[in-house]
Amino acid sequence: MNALLNADLHCHSVVSDGTLTPEALAERARANGVELWALTDHDEVGGQHRAAAAAKAVGMKYLTGTEISVTFADITVHIVGLGFDPDHPALVQGLKRTRGGREERAREMADGLAKVGIQGAFEGALQYVGNPDLISRTHFARHLVESGVCRDTNEVFRKFLTEGKPGFVPHRWAQLGDAVRWITEAGGLAVIAHPARYDHNPTREYALFTEFKAHGGRGVEVVTGSHTAAEYVKYADMAIEFGLAASRGSDFHSPDESHCDLGKLPYLEGRLTPVWELLADRIQ
Ligand code: AMP
Ligand code: MN
Ligand code: MN
Ligand code: MN
Repeated sequence: MNALLNADLHCHSVVSDGTLTPEALAERARANGVELWALTDHDEVGGQHRAAAAAKAVGMKYLTGTEISVTFADITVHIVGLGFDPDHPALVQGLKRTRGGREERAREMADGLAKVGIQGAFEGALQYVGNPDLISRTHFARHLVESGVCRDTNEVFRKFLTEGKPGFVPHRWAQLGDAVRWITEAGGLAVIAHPARYDHNPTREYALFTEFKAHGGRGVEVVTGSHTAAEYVKYADMAIEFGLAASRGSDFHSPDESHCDLGKLPYLEGRLTPVWELLADRIQ
């Protein structure tokens, strides 16, 4: 399989902060022409067996996936894992610990929102949560849109849920080395998710790529829903400079919110090594 494959190796279901079930995502991906798919719920592998079965039912190849929240140099970075054993104890236990503290954080977020006059946000957000372990900022955003506080989720994040805003509560996630190790020990491949989305200066970005490699990380998302055309080229160059394989994924969350649909992305450039080439024996 070469670079000209419609692979979508990044999206979210109701098991984390997406709005579709794994089965509905599989059908939508297939209808959009996806040939190789991975469901990558945040800090959770609870949907993996369902997703693999759903992919099989629609005749689509599948790689297991997850997206792990990591704290690196005081900011949150996401590491995608692909092609691992979803029942591996170190991975399952590590993710469980990473999910811990989300409810407490959500209560603090609601307290912050109450101080600016938005009451009952914790209970409101809970209405949108599919997995009680995984209440996230996205669920608060949906609640604040549906209750008429903001027009869309982007506005909620801008006004309330990002650093310095009333509903923002910093959180200590996993360590970079732990996340890469859990994925690798479970037989998978670790990938830096949407590298252009972090508030890093070039020195810290270089440090992230260097430390990620040193821990055994092997890939980087080059073509993803939140990258611009210029960023596809920048991170293709970085992949080659750092000897990393390249990944491709929409980061689809919801038909109503995501601007990039499943499988609707440009292909990887031919000069890159696609992650699926290194994961050939893990494809189901
Ligand atoms: P959390 O893990 O609770 O910190 O929530 C992070 C999630 O919020 C991400 O996975 C995205 O789905 C979503 N998110 C982050 N920033 C934005 C934004 N500016 N607009 C819409 N969604 C966002
Ligand atoms: Mn998300
Ligand atoms: Mn992410
Ligand atoms: Mn994501």
